[in-house]
Amino acid sequence: MTLPIICTTLLIEKSPQALPLGAACIASAIKNCSELKDVVEVSLKAFSIEDEKIQRISGENKNEKIAEYICDELLKITNGRKSVVCLSTFVWNVRILQKAALILKNHNCICIAGGPEITAHPGFYKEFDFTVSGEGEISVPEIIKKILGFEQLNKVIISESPDLALLKSPYLEGIIDPAEYDGALWELARGCPFKCAYCYESKGEKTVRMFSMERIKAELELFAKKKVAQVFVLDPTYNVNKKRAIELLRLIASKTPDTFYYFEARAEFIDRELAREFTKIPCALQIGLQSANEEVLKLVNRPWDKKKFLKGISFLNEEGVTFGLDLIFGLPGETFSSFRNGMDFALSLYPNNLEVFCLSVLPGTDLFDRAEKIGLKYQKEPPYHVIQNKEMQPGDFKRLEKLAKACSFFYNEGRAVPWFNSVCKCLKMNGTKLLELFYDKIISEHPDIGKCCEHKMIEKTQLDFLCKLFAERKLEKYFMVAEDIIKFYGAISRTTDTGKQEIIQLNYNAEYIASEYASDIRWFAENIKMQKSKIQTFMNNGNADFRVVK
Ligand code: SF4
Repeated sequence: MTLPIICTTLLIEKSPQALPLGAACIASAIKNCSELKDVVEVSLKAFSIEDEKIQRISGENKNEKIAEYICDELLKITNGRKSVVCLSTFVWNVRILQKAALILKNHNCICIAGGPEITAHPGFYKEFDFTVSGEGEISVPEIIKKILGFEQLNKVIISESPDLALLKSPYLEGIIDPAEYDGALWELARGCPFKCAYCYESKGEKTVRMFSMERIKAELELFAKKKVAQVFVLDPTYNVNKKRAIELLRLIASKTPDTFYYFEARAEFIDRELAREFTKIPCALQIGLQSANEEVLKLVNRPWDKKKFLKGISFLNEEGVTFGLDLIFGLPGETFSSFRNGMDFALSLYPNNLEVFCLSVLPGTDLFDRAEKIGLKYQKEPPYHVIQNKEMQPGDFKRLEKLAKACSFFYNEGRAVPWFNSVCKCLKMNGTKLLELFYDKIISEHPDIGKCCEHKMIEKTQLDFLCKLFAERKLEKYFMVAEDIIKFYGAISRTTDTGKQEIIQLNYNAEYIASEYASDIRWFAENIKMQKSKIQTFMNNGNADFRVVK
């Protein structure tokens, strides 16, 4: 009789970006272990917090109830047989999976846990029979062999890093089907040459191990065959090696020209040649700025060359590469106003999206070890958010959370990049001031507004808010231009998204609204005659375009 082994996890959301890749890698390693081949049956069973049945769970003891649901589903597979359950833990699921392990152990299951949370706390979580700190592809099959041989073994295992050349791809092995998730997480490398103090890599080996080109090519061919719509590249320093980055971009362009790629990149290492190469495939870059305060970045061991950073961003903007920026609030040395200035700096660079996060002091990081000494107070439970640093009180954190929410709704969801800076300039207001006003006047009055994700509705909210704001400042005569550019770019972005045509009415000639002239709203209103026009948006060779209609 074979031993059932289930690799499982609880994902944070249901999205093409949330794939059980860690659990699938372990399943692949077990499946490919020659000594286990004929004696185990491996399966992958992932859950998501956004699964309909889990969403319906509410009330007191919610985590217990979710754990019970997960166990019921897993026990349907094991059917009372002695089994092994491998659990992949993260900050958002560890409490639930701890509870699940307690239940599973009473049903003939042996629980092995791994993942970032276990790696951060080797030996801390007693609910699991075995915990594996680090990459699990070598240790987990070893543990299973010993379980089968009734051998004694340590409960806490510090795993060695596997040779990536020996690992089989869970995609190529058919363990995980990207078509099922409408996307793929694509691992190109493990490790990072940097040591940012707040990251798990801060105590890593500082070496980067690459997957072979042979595996990469085969995975790309599979993505092409499966017509994968989007791929999230897992390589925190994709472009540090420019030669390899360009080689991969060319490979991507030749094998999967229609797939959309998301990369994490360092702006300091982008030159014009690389920026141009990014324009040859459908893609977006996410760039970790984290803080625009050099002193703060030094304190978290993330030296920053502002000049090179700005140069890299200007190459992206000039070549028309879509990119977003990340900022973290609560870093040591960051004050409320220095963070706000950093946000204004980031917004001035025209990012497509600006993601603003609260710092998490993750166990297992260099920052965690130094937290007390440098005056960081943080939640002792996941997600370990900072609640106070030496420079900011809890009240400042609340204000920054509000700013983050306003940015997410007004700027990101509201697709404000083409007009945000022009509107701020016209109002003679910093971007963060505008976002704070939006929070106070709109979000605080309608806390559920963030749940609205239809862009047309968001645009209406933006226009109503701005109409009042322009009026309060006696700038009504400029609002007509602002309204046009918001409506124009909104319609273009929706057509890009859906491919559907749209008809909109403008106050000015659409050609002028679409031109550089409209970037200076005051100048435009004072120099260009009003001329009502109606336009229709449509798709033209893969890009949204418009024509004037009667
Ligand atoms: S935050 Fe990114 S760049 Fe910094 S150490 Fe971690 S993975 Fe590397």
